[in-house]
Amino acid sequence: MNSLMNTVTRLPVRFTRGEGVWLWDDQGRKYLDGFSGIAVNTLGHAHPRFTRVLQEQVSRLIHVSNYFQIGELEKLADKLVSVGGMENAFFCNSGCEANEAAIKLARLYGHQRGVDNPAIIVMENAFHGRTLATLSATGNRKAQAGFEPLVTGFVRVPLNDIASVRQIAASNRNVVAVLLEPIQGEGGINVSTVEYLRALRDICNQQNWLFMLDEVQCGIGRTGPWFVYQHANVLPDVLTLAKGLGGGVPIGVCLARGVAAQVFKPGNHGTTFGGNPLACAAALAVLEIVESEKLRENAEAMGRVIRDALAREFAGNKGVVEIRGRGLMIGMELDRPCYELMAQALDVGLLINVTTDNVIRIVPSLIISDAEAREIVTRLAPLVHAILAKPCEVKSAKG
Ligand SMILES: *Cc1c(COP(=O)(O)O)cnc(C)c1O
Repeated sequence: MNSLMNTVTRLPVRFTRGEGVWLWDDQGRKYLDGFSGIAVNTLGHAHPRFTRVLQEQVSRLIHVSNYFQIGELEKLADKLVSVGGMENAFFCNSGCEANEAAIKLARLYGHQRGVDNPAIIVMENAFHGRTLATLSATGNRKAQAGFEPLVTGFVRVPLNDIASVRQIAASNRNVVAVLLEPIQGEGGINVSTVEYLRALRDICNQQNWLFMLDEVQCGIGRTGPWFVYQHANVLPDVLTLAKGLGGGVPIGVCLARGVAAQVFKPGNHGTTFGGNPLACAAALAVLEIVESEKLRENAEAMGRVIRDALAREFAGNKGVVEIRGRGLMIGMELDRPCYELMAQALDVGLLINVTTDNVIRIVPSLIISDAEAREIVTRLAPLVHAILAKPCEVKSAKG
C-alpha cells in the first residue's frame, strides 16, 4: 500500500464481488452491505438490468466530448428536470464538482446583480466536498485545518435556526444565496425541519437569494420522494446531486430553475468528462429502474423497518441519544464515540459507518428486502449493546 497517498485509513478487507446487498471478500467471506459505498450503489451490486445497460453502452460509445450533442445526456437532463421540477442541468463527475458549479453560479448571479463580494450562507456541520471552495463551505474545522487560506464568501449559521438567517438578511447586503443539505450526511444525519426549509424558501424569495440544496447524499429516492425538498413541497433554485445518481458510475449534476437557470453563458463553466454517454446511460438506467421497481416506496418502507427495529431494540437505553433520519438515510447517535463499530461490524459480516465520532450511519441500497433490513439490526444490535455496557469515559462532542 506504499504506492498510495496516505489520505485514508482503510479497513483490512478487500471485496471482489457483489450481488444485491451482499458482498464477498477475497477470502470468500460474505457481508451484508448497509453502507452501499456511502449511499452510492442505489441498485445494490450487479443489478442484472443495470449491468446489461452498462455493457451495451460500453460496447457502443463511452466518451465523445461536450463539443458535440450527446443523446444520452439530453435524455438524462430531461428526466432529471422533470422528476425534480427543475429547468436545466450542468453535468460533472462528483458531488464537490456539482457544488463548485453551484457556488460559481451563485457568485456570477451576484455579480450580475451588482454585488461585488457575493457571499453564501452555509450551515454548521455541513459537508459539501474537498475541493478548496467546497471545503471552505464545509462546516468542519478538522477537515479545513492546514489548507488555509480558505475561499472567502461563506457565512455560517446553525441548522434549523431561522432567526440567525433573518439576522443576516437584515445586516449583510453581500449575501446572494443559501446552500444546505436538507439532511446532513457526513455531519451526523441531521434533518432540516419542513418548517425550516419553507422559511428559508420564503426568505430567499424576499431577498432575491438563490435557495441552493445539496442532495448529493440524501437525494435520488433514498428518503421516499425523489428529493428531500419534496417532503416540504418547496422547490430550490439550484440543486446538486451525485453519489446515488450513477449507481456507482461517477456522475454529478447541478440543476437550476428560474433566474438561476439563466446565469451561465457559454464559456462560464465547463468539463471534459461531465455528461459523457456512459455516465449518462448509467444515471438514466438508475432513474428508470428506481421507478419501475418502485424503489422509492421500498426505501421509505424499509427505512421505517430499520428505524422501528432499532427503536424496539434500544428502547429505554440511555446510551442511545437519538434515532433519526428519513427513509434509508438513518443515523443513531450514541452518548459516546463508537469508531470501533465499523471494524467490529465487519467481523460479524456487516458494513455500516460511523460519522462525527458517535453517529452510526446506515444507508443501504434502495433494493434492500424486509428480511435483509431486519438482518442489519440483528447483526448490529449486540455490538452496540456491548459498547453501551462499558462505562462511558469520553463525553461525545454533541452530548
Ligand atoms: C459526498 C458529498 C459531497 C462530495 O461528493 P464527492 O463526490 O465526494 O465530491 C458533497 N455533498 C454531500 C452532501 C456529500 O454527501
